Amino acid sequence: QGHVLDVARVREDFPLLARTVHGKPLVYFDSANTAQKPRVVIDAVDRYYREFNANVARAVHQLGEEATAAYEGARDKLARFLGAPSRDEIVLTSGTTQAINLVAYSWALPRLRPGDEILVTTMEHHANIVPWQLVCERTGARLRVAPISERGELVVERFVEALTPAVKLAAVAHVSNVLGTINPVAELARATRRRGIPLLVDGSQAAPHLAVDLRTLGCDFYAMTGHKLFGPTGTGALWARREILHDMPPFFGGGEMIREVRFEGTTFADPPHRFEAGTPNISGFVGLGAAIDYLGGLDHAALVAHERALLDHLTDTLRAVPGVRLFGEAAHKVPVVSFLVDGAHAHDLATLLDHEGIALRSGHHCAHPLMQFFGVPATLRASLAFYNTHEEIERFVAALARVRTLLA
Ligand code: PMP
Repeated sequence: QGHVLDVARVREDFPLLARTVHGKPLVYFDSANTAQKPRVVIDAVDRYYREFNANVARAVHQLGEEATAAYEGARDKLARFLGAPSRDEIVLTSGTTQAINLVAYSWALPRLRPGDEILVTTMEHHANIVPWQLVCERTGARLRVAPISERGELVVERFVEALTPAVKLAAVAHVSNVLGTINPVAELARATRRRGIPLLVDGSQAAPHLAVDLRTLGCDFYAMTGHKLFGPTGTGALWARREILHDMPPFFGGGEMIREVRFEGTTFADPPHRFEAGTPNISGFVGLGAAIDYLGGLDHAALVAHERALLDHLTDTLRAVPGVRLFGEAAHKVPVVSFLVDGAHAHDLATLLDHEGIALRSGHHCAHPLMQFFGVPATLRASLAFYNTHEEIERFVAALARVRTLLA
């Protein structure tokens, strides 16, 4: 009530949304792949290179101090955005993939023994599967999988049952990139905590839609990626509890992560810098800081209400198109919808839709096991953000109905 997002106004903040594709106004329905950037992000990156480009944490000169302040400022903003108890618990990474690999190699690899298990779910992205398989191969540990229902929801009882003493880590998506399902992380975390099993949450698709609050989620690791959060590519973060980070050895070695280096041996900096060897993506984090400020300036309740209305509209109109099969109809979802159309290949439809100016993804979405669960090689995925409109949904569904007759 009273929370209405001025979408026309918001769209003006995103220069790219004004372009045309194949002579048609762009309909960008691929934000789960990567989100578009508001002008303030583009300007912040531009201003960094024009006005204070310098390396961080090395120089005493003015430019170095300004760059360091902006880079470290992004860590503060991320900590506040995620509700982290401390900024020192935020490790800046190139994205979720690097964040999860850091946990795999620095936390899991030294701990896992033959017979140990890592529990994931059927709906994980490859970034939350393959790193675990690689450390399992090296340690003799095993990957276990908690199942989902046909509706695309995690079967919580089965997840809890699977939390046997052999499980040393559970790793779960906060939100599925294919189905849009929001997993009940706080509930899962209560179950893992009771058994002393650390819980890693892949927050890639949650951060752009939900108000993430690490204090109430109760997990132990949280990975996220900046480019889906309206920030630059090559940015992301790993949050982990202070005690966990302190016990983790470094993953990469190099400059900026040491206390003292001697040829006889090196002592390392405290977290988070222990995990940030080398020159980081300074401009990227300057931009991500601007993205978080931008999001903070929006009415979040209005954003959530708008996204909910978009999801309902998209789901209902798609369902009305003959031959459409929807994947994942969870009760709690973000506006990400996977579907197929009888008699048409996903890639062919995506290509025809592209010619209508509509950008959406077709394929396996880096989730082969989920495709295997549904028994399909690929789906089409429309993934929306708060800058999308009801009119775009109408255009998309009308175009879909038109192009499907070309293929049927
Ligand atoms: N997990 C999920 C759920 C994702 O959607 C993605 C990106 N598609 C990733 C992990 C990987 O993120 P990145 O490529 O930014 O590292």
